[in-house]
Amino acid sequence: MGSVKDYFSSLGSGIASLLKGMQITGKEFITPKITEKYPENRETVKVPERFRAILTLKYDDEGRHKCIACGICQRNCPNGTITITSKMVDTPDGKKKRKLDKYIYDLGSCTFCQLCVTTCPQDALDFSNDFEQAVFTREKLVKQLNYLPEKEDPAPSPEELARMAAEKEAKIAAAKAAAAAKKAAAAAAGDATQVTPENKEN
Ligand code: SF4
Ligand code: SF4
Repeated sequence: MGSVKDYFSSLGSGIASLLKGMQITGKEFITPKITEKYPENRETVKVPERFRAILTLKYDDEGRHKCIACGICQRNCPNGTITITSKMVDTPDGKKKRKLDKYIYDLGSCTFCQLCVTTCPQDALDFSNDFEQAVFTREKLVKQLNYLPEKEDPAPSPEELARMAAEKEAKIAAAKAAAAAKKAAAAAAGDATQVTPENKEN
């Protein structure tokens, strides 16, 4: 008899415990959230401007970046996070110019020290505060920062072409004049040191 009584007593306390738990859970369902707002507030969340989430190349309104592929940021990075490859291209005035080919950045090894940004002579780099950078594999953390199609430099105007040609001619003329002057000076120095019967008597 006693065991039947214990059975129903346990059953009653189990049901009471269950109801109490459900009451707490139900209350939490309708209580406004205090600490955990993300990701519901993704659209309105304010991340400080100076928060460093990922390195980016600055692009102007026409989609051009300012990187000249000098490699200073790569050399200054303490972690080998940046790998730059460059290429040589022909310019309209017939010269060769180094241009950026690929700017590879490994977010997984970046310590956000910002040395690359502060030492860039072109002010070409910045940190974005876009904090949603989670991915499923480490490979996806390696990103190419010059992701936009390379824009061609604007073609020089006829006036600019004429000016570049004139500058080139002037440089050639100046080099020729300097070489002639050097040659004449060397010849004069040779004459002065030559031993002649006249300067031998003196
Ligand atoms: S980002 Fe700046 S420092 Fe780095 S290669 Fe380009 S110009 Fe040079
Ligand atoms: S922030 Fe520091 S660690 Fe990250 S890429 Fe720049 S120099 Fe390297």
